[in-house]
Amino acid sequence: MSSLLDGRAAANDIMAGLRDVVGQLKARGVVPGLGVLLVGDHAASAVYVRSKTRSCEDLGLFHETRHLEAQVTTDEVLAEVRRFNERADVHGILVQLPLPPQVDGQRVLDLVDPTKDVDGFHPENVGRLVQKRPRFVPCTPAGIMELLARNHVEVAGRRAVVVGRSDIVGKPMAHLLLHGDATVTVCHSRTRDLAAVTREADILIAAIGRAGLVRAEHVKAGAVVVDVGMNRITTMNEAADLLEETRLAAFRAKGWALVGDVHFPSVRGVAGAITPVPGGVGPLTIALLMKNTVQAAAARARGTPPR
Ligand code: NDP
Repeated sequence: MSSLLDGRAAANDIMAGLRDVVGQLKARGVVPGLGVLLVGDHAASAVYVRSKTRSCEDLGLFHETRHLEAQVTTDEVLAEVRRFNERADVHGILVQLPLPPQVDGQRVLDLVDPTKDVDGFHPENVGRLVQKRPRFVPCTPAGIMELLARNHVEVAGRRAVVVGRSDIVGKPMAHLLLHGDATVTVCHSRTRDLAAVTREADILIAAIGRAGLVRAEHVKAGAVVVDVGMNRITTMNEAADLLEETRLAAFRAKGWALVGDVHFPSVRGVAGAITPVPGGVGPLTIALLMKNTVQAAAARARGTPPR
């Protein structure tokens, strides 16, 4: 049976470390601030934004959310980004994705001041990451690297396989592992014989968005498995397949459950260590967003661009 990589504990540790830095900044009259742009009525986005702003409150950061209606134009969203760019009390800007289809997301992300781009999606920050001189690193992969380090998972020289090649998770994850001297393979929907590739992995990262796709046959015995997926399941059939016995009662009571991209009940018996869902990567993503925001404010207070 594999050991659990506890993302919540690691996130709490990071938050505790940040509390001291925030205290020092406040003593100098600087309150780190996060500006959030939420567009439309995407239910999951509203939940994510709420958890992020709750973490701001927990740390004593200033936050302001601009909630725009689903029918906005690209120009209206751009105008809001410009306002946050100009505000001295906003050190970090978060554009909650996805944006509605009529909004040109690329133009919106490109307009975010790169020194306030705490999600690390601006091309300047992407380029810096690729060149191994990072400023802001996307929060989910950065959180995963923290989790590996805190659990003494050796990265250098090992085979890492990332399933998923999104700009938000898969690609930056692959770069971070490469910079950690792993030998990295990236898989996607066109990969042939996925299981044969993933079974090579000492470290397997699943960032796919398909509930329970990674099963025991995809995993080498003793591998470290990190499950980024966040999928909501609502049917009893899915629950019977994907949930361990201990979670079934809660599923019956609520009618839904959150599961990852890894088939936890079977992979748990093969992997050496595994992140649970919930309680794995999710809390770390938010902790790293807080870390980037505090870092942005600290750099502003020093009068140097964040590095
Ligand atoms: P995307 O949909 O942007 O990317 C999914 C990737 O998975 C794509 O590269 C796609 O390939 C690949 N893929 C899809 N189907 C298969 C398949 N059958 N075999 C192999 N590869 C496949 O998703 P994101 O990267 O944004 O998110 C991935 C998951 O992580 C989602 O569940 C999301 O909710 C979750 N997430 C969780 C976060 C957290 O904090 N825990 C933060 C961000 C995301 P192709 O490129 O060919 O289409």
